[in-house]
Amino acid sequence: MIARHFQAASQSIVSVHRTEARKNDPARTSMWNFFSLLAILFILIVLLLAPAMTSAQSSVDNIERLEVRLWPDFDRPSVLTTLVGSFPTGMPDQNMIIVPVPEGASVHVVAPLRDDGTPGAEMDFDDSTPGQLTFTTNEIGFWIEYYAPYEADGNSRNISYQWQSAIDVDQMDAVVQQPLRASVLTTEPAEESVTTGPDGLLYHSIPAREVPAGSTYLLEVDYTMVEPTLTQDALSQQSGLSEAGTPEESGLDWLLVVAIVAGVVAIGAVAWIVITSRSTKKRVAKPRPVRRVGARPRSMTTSPPPAQEVQANRYCHACGNPVGPDDRFCRSCGTAVKGRG
Ligand SMILES: [Zn+2]
Repeated sequence: MIARHFQAASQSIVSVHRTEARKNDPARTSMWNFFSLLAILFILIVLLLAPAMTSAQSSVDNIERLEVRLWPDFDRPSVLTTLVGSFPTGMPDQNMIIVPVPEGASVHVVAPLRDDGTPGAEMDFDDSTPGQLTFTTNEIGFWIEYYAPYEADGNSRNISYQWQSAIDVDQMDAVVQQPLRASVLTTEPAEESVTTGPDGLLYHSIPAREVPAGSTYLLEVDYTMVEPTLTQDALSQQSGLSEAGTPEESGLDWLLVVAIVAGVVAIGAVAWIVITSRSTKKRVAKPRPVRRVGARPRSMTTSPPPAQEVQANRYCHACGNPVGPDDRFCRSCGTAVKGRG
């Protein structure tokens, strides 16, 4: 298409030269020049717009790997669903992606996938059509988060996750986080393995499979809550009961406490040196009572202890690492922290 435009452009330039050579009438020549200039401008505009027009229509026909993460009853009484997709290398620019989402889902985050497997800055999306989410990307993959409703009957819950798309999925993986206050959790298809995450929660991995375009992937999850408590609340309740938390956690907090104490001592020492050097200079001229010298550093060391930091027990939903109670972003992966700030 572009090549043809170039041909047309060069032909019209050639014809301009021919007409100039044949006709010597200055008025006709200038008119011809004017029209050929218009023609060249038009062709240039078309050439500039052509790539944008064609790329807007291009779309991906396969996802190399798609990981579905279902975190039910995590920070809301619904299913926090994260879709992490990666495209095969050598994809065209500006891929338009249509991802199926359940009706009634509230889309929370649409972001590109970074090389380290975490989400990048949020990007624009269109969820005006029920049951689908559309966005355009140049990136290696995507990170989508939404909350989907589950079926609740008393304390028992049923989740039925479904994926059906016009895009081939070469490898579909699914992981289900077992709510902290849930008793037995079962999946259909049956899980392949259950592992304990850095947050102490159980993660059920579903065997990977290929999902060709048009076919349906269905995952059923059933569990019963011992009491209807969200995992995030249950985790902070748990940390309130046990004083120290996990050894790794307390080790981390002790480092922080030591660092703060060291900082305060360092500031005190510097202040002491400054004050004593100042007062010794003055003392040479006019001796002063030593009482004031001692009073200053003592007031410096009585800064409030970092009590709030120690009893933190929240975890990043994206990477599973602990986050502080006042942290708005994960210190490990930079993802915006969920739940009550
Ligand atoms: Zn994180």
